[in-house]
Amino acid sequence: MADVTCNGRSYRFPKRPTVVICLDGSEPGYIEAAIEAGVAPTFARFMREGLHTHADSVIPSFTNPNNLSIITGRPPAVHGIAGNFFYDPATHTEVMMNDPKFMRAPTILAAFHDAGGKVAMVTAKDKLRLLLSNKLNYATGRAIAFSSERADQATRAANGIDGVLELVGKPVPEVYSADLSEFVFAAGVKLAERFRPDLMYLSTTDYIQHKVGPGTAIANSFYGMIDGYLAALDRLGCTIVATADHGMNDKHTADGAPDVIYLQTLFDEWLGKDVARVILPITDPYVAHHGALGGFATVHVPDVAAVPGLLDRLWNIDGIEMACAKDIACQQFSLPPDRIGDIVVISERNKALGTSPERHDLSGLDEPLRSHGGLSEQRVPMIANRRVATPLPVPLRNFDVFEVALNRLE
Ligand SMILES: [Zn+2]
Repeated sequence: MADVTCNGRSYRFPKRPTVVICLDGSEPGYIEAAIEAGVAPTFARFMREGLHTHADSVIPSFTNPNNLSIITGRPPAVHGIAGNFFYDPATHTEVMMNDPKFMRAPTILAAFHDAGGKVAMVTAKDKLRLLLSNKLNYATGRAIAFSSERADQATRAANGIDGVLELVGKPVPEVYSADLSEFVFAAGVKLAERFRPDLMYLSTTDYIQHKVGPGTAIANSFYGMIDGYLAALDRLGCTIVATADHGMNDKHTADGAPDVIYLQTLFDEWLGKDVARVILPITDPYVAHHGALGGFATVHVPDVAAVPGLLDRLWNIDGIEMACAKDIACQQFSLPPDRIGDIVVISERNKALGTSPERHDLSGLDEPLRSHGGLSEQRVPMIANRRVATPLPVPLRNFDVFEVALNRLE
């Protein structure tokens, strides 16, 4: 089969089933600690005999922008998804970006399918399924895509498969659970066995990483679970490359309270009530595990130039790592200007950004806050079960992962 081109990048058609994995929230250290604890021998073997390096994720270091960059091979300026939602100043509305109509680029999976390949995609949460499976034609019998969350509702017409629970041999998992991610892997192994996709994308959820840090018993057990499925995929002859959408850091004080800079409160003090509008693009329908508190915010201000020293005021706040105007942020992070506010604010490693205290429901936070979104969560692992044959892209981005899997390994 000829090479497949997608969004200006060229990919070789794989000789063996190729599995790209996004381990949501896999801050460097989780896998190393699980190996140290003796529960991740397959990861250890891949890292020793295959590839182990680090890559930079997309900023904002959130789930959707990074999953969309991975599946398109391009940054948000190209695919358009810069967060879970954006504010449209023309209509004064906050618009959810979980609908494929907001995507401005095709996916690598759809390109391989249209070139005659067999493709599969399994994601933990249903919010990502429609985006990641955009434009797959299930009528050909060469495409399968579903979420763990709604695995029981999969049909041949809408997902290319039915009877997923019977195939996987597991019930539908709880949405806030490690089982949601385990189901992704269990399904991936069954699909590798029975469907033999040329190209498969598996994307988990970061429920565990929001809860606990590297080296904890819960985290070690989670990565130990993943390790067993990696061994199964490896035995099935798959090429496997795993990376992550973003890292994860503690964002709480010594007594366990969330350590938050409330930006709407500050802007209300500086400019008057509700003159500025702070957008936290981490906000989505599933906020229990982070209370919508992350490390990245964008702020709509009617006229930034009319408020001299506004950026300086932000820079002077303890815990702000970066504050800049939209054009600088869009250039530096390859973001779509029409979906970013006038100012971008990023917090330091152990600080989170909020709007105002009364707007955050923290009742679902049963552990001290861990979250992501900023530069301090940009470094992620990249691990493969095969050696590098052709030098890797420099700098290496997590959205180079399909390029690495298809073009750069032995
Ligand atoms: Zn994530």
